[in-house]
Amino acid sequence: MLKRFWTTPIMGYHRVGESKADHVPTVSAEVFERQLTFLASRGYRVWPLAELIDALEREAVVPKKSVAITFDDGYEETYTIAMPRLSRFGFPATVFVTPREVGLPGFMTWEQLRAVSRDGMTIGSHTLNHTYLPLESLEQIEHELQESKRLLEARLGRPIEFLSYPVGGFTSAIREAAQRAGYRAACTTNRGLARASRDVMSLRRVKITDRDRHPLILAVKLSGYYDLFRRIESPS
Ligand SMILES: [Zn+2]
Repeated sequence: MLKRFWTTPIMGYHRVGESKADHVPTVSAEVFERQLTFLASRGYRVWPLAELIDALEREAVVPKKSVAITFDDGYEETYTIAMPRLSRFGFPATVFVTPREVGLPGFMTWEQLRAVSRDGMTIGSHTLNHTYLPLESLEQIEHELQESKRLLEARLGRPIEFLSYPVGGFTSAIREAAQRAGYRAACTTNRGLARASRDVMSLRRVKITDRDRHPLILAVKLSGYYDLFRRIESPS
């Protein structure tokens, strides 16, 4: 039974670089580098999100040592610190951005997003205003989902297929609105592994932090055992 399910961790990063006073989960450049080295040295295959979703939908067999890498919010350090390192390792990643924040101090610019996109990275939507959707009206939810997609597509000149719910907040109505808006798949922020049997509109991610500097901790986290331990620790 268990063999019918494969699990592929989708790693969820926010800021890479120096911690700031804004409580955004941050991984230092050094630890990030160490995590990429771990993936490379252990023979992990890093999948572009689109290929992973293809495989999920086909229920294809995905090698055990597979991961996808995502970044939320589009901080400028995603461009200045994370991207050069990912390129060096030849690892693809997806960056979920909020169009209203693009170009603001501390965030990536449109030019940087276009450059990253040209280099083969995937850009996804993180709604228009980084809105916590469960508190909004359906009309506002639809606006956030549709307008962010439209703006990103217009400015970047390519289809926007993926969504990340801000703060992981979604309901079944939001999930349906996201599908109607034309998203192929959506990520939450909940810990956990993507499973073949799971819904592509609510893909769980493994939150990666500075505390995952030790290769063993990262290995356990990516193996799914961490998820199991956490569930036992906090049954809620
Ligand atoms: Zn966010």
